[in-house]
Amino acid sequence: MHMFTLPIAILLCFFQTILSSTIPDSMLITRDIPFSTRAYWMRRANEALGELSGSPCPFAAFGTAVVNHTGTDGLGDQICIGVNQNRQTGNPALHGEIAAITNCTAILTDPHGRFRLTASEAQAAFVDLTLYTNAESCPMCASAIRWAGFKEYVYGTSIHTLVRKGWSQIHISSLEVFQASLDLSSHTLLMGDVLANETDPYFLWQFDPAYPCPDGCSRSGNGTTCRVSTRDELK
Ligand SMILES: [Zn+2]
Repeated sequence: MHMFTLPIAILLCFFQTILSSTIPDSMLITRDIPFSTRAYWMRRANEALGELSGSPCPFAAFGTAVVNHTGTDGLGDQICIGVNQNRQTGNPALHGEIAAITNCTAILTDPHGRFRLTASEAQAAFVDLTLYTNAESCPMCASAIRWAGFKEYVYGTSIHTLVRKGWSQIHISSLEVFQASLDLSSHTLLMGDVLANETDPYFLWQFDPAYPCPDGCSRSGNGTTCRVSTRDELK
């Protein structure tokens, strides 16, 4: 079982036990998507950092990819990506997941784009989509994921790891948000710790000067931050 660490698997069993009395079993079963596909999209969530923030090692290294696995063969269809844009925009609510939901909505409703959906059609479309985020969502974003009605929510690094490594956080796990959202008409499958061995390095350097920067980045002159490596540093 590559997809989960044991503690998360246990939590999910507990969660599914709670859910099983309220929703059909068919909604609780992980669809037959191989780990290699999950890993591909988690890596896309990491890659979104370089593509949208201009650096593979931004301080707030929270990246998201939204994918349609419904009715598609193979890897699935990327709908949009998003990254934390607090610093770029000044909008304190624009975490990676919120940015992705905003980006996807714009893409789904673009009158000249691939989908050309109406507002109501776009809103309904989220029930077929999977959100991959390289770190477990804060309670604001976990709530937004539930309000959107995503089919699946897949995260890499856990909130527990973030807090242990010095990140400030509102201490409500995604599992708790999901457990408190059973009244919503949609149901979202939660998968945690997916490819955490690759997502963790994006979050472990910020408050630990001894921890190496993510690939392609080096410590800045005073050692407090990571920045894109120079050609000499890459030799
Ligand atoms: Zn958030």
